[in-house]
Amino acid sequence: MRDKHGINLSYNKAYRSKDNTLHIVFGDQWESFKMLPAYFHMLEKSNPGRVTKTETYRKNRFKYGFMALGAFIERFNTVIRTVIPDDATLLKSNTRGVLLVVVCKDGNEIIYPLAFGFANSECAKLWTWFLTKLREVILCLELLMIVSDRCTGISNGMKAIFRDAAQGVCAYQLAKNLKQHCRKRGDVINLYYRATYVYRVEEFGRLMAELPQLRLMPRKRYGPRKRTEIQLEYLLQHWFHDRRSNAREMPKFLTHNADQHIKDRVLPSQRCEIHPFDCNRFKVYSKWNEEIVDLEQRSCSCREWDLDELPCIHAMVVATFKGMPISALCSDFFTIGWLKQAYAMAVNPVPKPEVWDITNAVHNCIVLLWKKMIDRKTREKSDTFC
Ligand SMILES: [Zn+2]
Repeated sequence: MRDKHGINLSYNKAYRSKDNTLHIVFGDQWESFKMLPAYFHMLEKSNPGRVTKTETYRKNRFKYGFMALGAFIERFNTVIRTVIPDDATLLKSNTRGVLLVVVCKDGNEIIYPLAFGFANSECAKLWTWFLTKLREVILCLELLMIVSDRCTGISNGMKAIFRDAAQGVCAYQLAKNLKQHCRKRGDVINLYYRATYVYRVEEFGRLMAELPQLRLMPRKRYGPRKRTEIQLEYLLQHWFHDRRSNAREMPKFLTHNADQHIKDRVLPSQRCEIHPFDCNRFKVYSKWNEEIVDLEQRSCSCREWDLDELPCIHAMVVATFKGMPISALCSDFFTIGWLKQAYAMAVNPVPKPEVWDITNAVHNCIVLLWKKMIDRKTREKSDTFC
């Protein structure tokens, strides 16, 4: 600010200025809790299929909030790969709290949001409540994989609510923990990263066996609102619009990401040799190894095709040998048609509060901000609501 505008501005003043600006744009966030039921009611009305829930403590104090996006959930159940990471992050507004996020990836490998949760702090009960609500909207449990940092709350919630789903540990979160405890052990970090990128179970086991015995890390503690939701609303509308436009402009059969995946493997695949031994099975020799490709099972012994659902170099060699289009080896998730379907529904804006058409029951259902945030001086003492 000093270099560009010649103004001496302290961090504190900049923070208060930003806060005042947000107040002017979005209104009083402390008071906005009272509008939460009406706002959720209008959200569901403007966007059919959207699911919103709120939970309160006694005296109508806000406890938890849940919002699943109808347009996203419906497409997730049909045209999106069923791999969903979930996590929580701290909110930095005056009212504090945590934001729970569940996302997945579209056919272009871009984040595709599914559901959000809001609460004053992260705890096991919150995750159980949130996952219960999530379970109600996710219909497709077959091949569902949930990736998280496996904190106690999530882990217990998964066991109770998503018993049939496969669970995975977030490699990024695990790497962060590993770096904290092995800062001077570059060999351990390198070995870990190599292990995260292999496809074969035996290769993964061999690399993990080389990892030295690590000490367990102390568990980290991680530390709703209308304003947050409105900002989310704008963000999601932009995402939907931009990605729908991008998908329309993609000229090919496959998404950009899948197309690039194939381009990167064309040259290595040209250096391979192929020996058919069945009408559907082929042995492919590369510089480093030999793999068996089964076209009927859509599988390769290197496991890359099986797990990524995009062809490995060995499968590409077979496709070229058979005169098949390589795009036929890709999962439908990576086609432009499915990508367009994923963003086919728009995220409709909620009308201004002056024109909200809400029933008396919704109007009278006022949610209040949790007490401890009302009076900061007695914050610790008033934590009885937890
Ligand atoms: Zn392969």
